[in-house]
Formats: sequence, structure tokens, C-alpha cells
Amino acid sequence: MRILLTGGCGFIGSAVVRHLIRATDHSVVNIDKLTYAASKDALEEAHTHPRHTLVTADITDLATMQQVFATHRPDAVMHLAAESHVDRSIDGPAVFIQTNVVGTFSLLEAARAYWTSLAPKAKAAFRFHHISTDEVFGALAPNDPPFTETTPYDPRSPYSASKAASDHLVRAWHHTYGLPAFVTNTTNNYGPWHFPEKLIPLVTINAIEGRELPVYGDGSNQRDWLFVEDHAEALVRAVEHGQPGETYAIGARQPRSNLQVVQAICGVLDELHPDPAGPRTRLIRYVTDRPGHDFRYEIDASHAMRALDWQPAHDFDRGIRRTVGWYLDHQSWWEDIRARRYTGQRLGTAA
Ligand code: NAD
Repeated sequence: MRILLTGGCGFIGSAVVRHLIRATDHSVVNIDKLTYAASKDALEEAHTHPRHTLVTADITDLATMQQVFATHRPDAVMHLAAESHVDRSIDGPAVFIQTNVVGTFSLLEAARAYWTSLAPKAKAAFRFHHISTDEVFGALAPNDPPFTETTPYDPRSPYSASKAASDHLVRAWHHTYGLPAFVTNTTNNYGPWHFPEKLIPLVTINAIEGRELPVYGDGSNQRDWLFVEDHAEALVRAVEHGQPGETYAIGARQPRSNLQVVQAICGVLDELHPDPAGPRTRLIRYVTDRPGHDFRYEIDASHAMRALDWQPAHDFDRGIRRTVGWYLDHQSWWEDIRARRYTGQRLGTAA
């Protein structure tokens, strides 16, 4: 397949591009605006591979999106480009509406015009895969069953509301125009190349440097953690086998409280890179909670696992060990980001 993928220089998008180049014969046209969250380094050897083409463009620019479809004539779209950080959406929601809602609208319109012009066989085979989050479902109480594909939407933050809006647009374009689109909603990802403003990289880096480890509230907020390479594999299986109008809820059933996550990072680091000053858990600091902080997310992925014939290869213990090891081995990447491009003092947040 020729896949038009948006946001391929971000955390999850780059993992998908690497997987497409390493494990499949598909070619990929990567549309990325290269915002603060992008890193071309994360493409690794895929960056210069003949089956990968990077187009620096903004998905809100409809004319450019139409031109990209006309030039590259894709068989499928994987739409990952988004503003993705909840705290940033609270400080400045406008860009979230612009990229996540208006950007998805532009891409749908460009895709629809192109798809309408295809010959019947290519038209039937075309897929528009929209990548979304479990945050659109709201928050779970401690004993609630996990989210499934049929959980009603109840977004609580500007980020999750903008993603919910984009999911609704995608389903409307399927039902109204027949565009062969489907949605995947996934839990929290972690792993290599994760931008250092999110909980796991921020805590890992602070712990390596002997700085304080900020934890919101009492640290009891809970997330279901999926290793990013497992997610990339699930997304590629979805674009290959996903059915129009479907939803696939993807998760790992590896729930951990934020405090457990921070303690696990400290434990792995103490083992791989001991600190003469003592165990890193001494650096944990409890700070005022985020406004409207969702208590718990967790996904029942049984439908997606069956339909896509997919299982995550990493449990949390294995994934966090690989992640912490990766941050120890890639110090120059995150030091460069901290020094040149990123001066924010935000807290690390799970999502
Ligand atoms: P990210 O912030 O790391 O990367 C986003 C990428 O999109 C960046 O490369 C950025 O340059 C690009 N981009 C942003 N605005 C753009 C625009 N207007 N035009 C073109 N490119 C633009 O995000 P991520 O964590 O990799 O998330 C990818 C997708 O997966 C998002 O849609 C997100 O909502 C979804 N998701 C993320 C998680 C998670 O845990 N990170 C979980 C579930 C779903």
C-alpha cells in the first residue's frame, strides 16, 4: 500500500513509520508540520529510506492537502497529527481546535474528493484510519468496568473534547458520504522518543539528573500503559484489516497508578544507574492536582485483539525497563531538546 500518514515525526507516528519501513513493504508519505513536538531523529533509518517521503505541511491547509493526495495517490490514510498535551490544551486551547478539529476536517475533505475520483476497485479498497484516544470516554471510577467501543463519549479537557469532535467528524464522513473510514481509540503510550514533557520521560530524565519528581495530587490517578511499538504494530494491522465504520479500542490491560509508574522508573534506574545519594524515590514530591484531572482510564481491548489478531508483546515491567534504558542511552537527544527547543517547566503528566 501507499500510505499517507500525518504526524509521522511525533512520538507514535514515528514508531508507525519505523514499523512500516522495517516490517512491511508499504510506502509512506509522512505529512508533518514539524511543531515543537516533532523530531526527525525519531524516524531513525526510515528517514532516508526510499519508501519514506517527508512532506513538511500543515493539515489545516486544504489546498496543500488536496495537492498531496493528487501527487501521491495513496491507498490509505493514517491520521495521527494532533496537538496532544492535555496541560497545553488547558493553557491555550485554540491550537487544539485548529489542528485537531479543523485539521481533521481539511484532511477528510481532501480525502473525500480524492476517493470520489477513484475507480471502483481502488475506491472499495481505500481506508481512512483516524487515530484517537480513550480520553474521549471521560473518566472511570475505581470499580467501573474498562472502556469498550460502545462506551458513550464524555470528554473533560479541551484536548479530549477536540479529539472527540474529530472522531465525530470521521464517523459523519463515513455515514454521510460513504468514506471508508474507521477509528482506533487507544490508552496511554510510552517508550522511546517520547517528548520530555509527558510523565514517563520527564520523571525518567529528572531522576537521571537527581531532580525532584513531581506527582499530581496523591499519585492515585490510574492509566492503562501500552508500549508504543506494540501500538504501532496494532495500528498497522488496523490499516491493513480495519473495516469501514468500525471502532477498535486498543489497550494493554496494564493499569498502574501514577505513583506506581514513578516508583517503577526509580526502581529500574536505581538498578541500571545507581545514585550514590540513595534510592530515587526520595525525590518524589506531591504537587497540587491538575484541574479536572480524570481519575482513571482503562480499555477492554478484546474486540480489537480478536478482529486485528494482535496482542501487545510488552507488559509494563518489560516496557518500562526498555524505556528507561533508552533514555539512559539517548541523553544527547533529550539534553538538546531541553537546552534548545524546550524551556517549559511543566509537570510530567500521564495524559
Ligand atoms: P505528538 O504530539 O508526539 O506528535 C504529533 C505530531 O503531529 C508532531 O510530529 C507534530 O509536528 C504533528 N503536527 C501537529 N500539528 C500539525 C499540523 N497542524 N499539521 C501537520 N502536522 C502536525 O503526538 P503523539 O503522542 O504521537 O500522538 C499521535 C496521535 O495519537 C494523536 O492524534 C493523539 O491524539 C493520539 N493518541 C496519543 C496517545 C499517547 O499516549 N501519546 C494515546 C492515544 C492516542
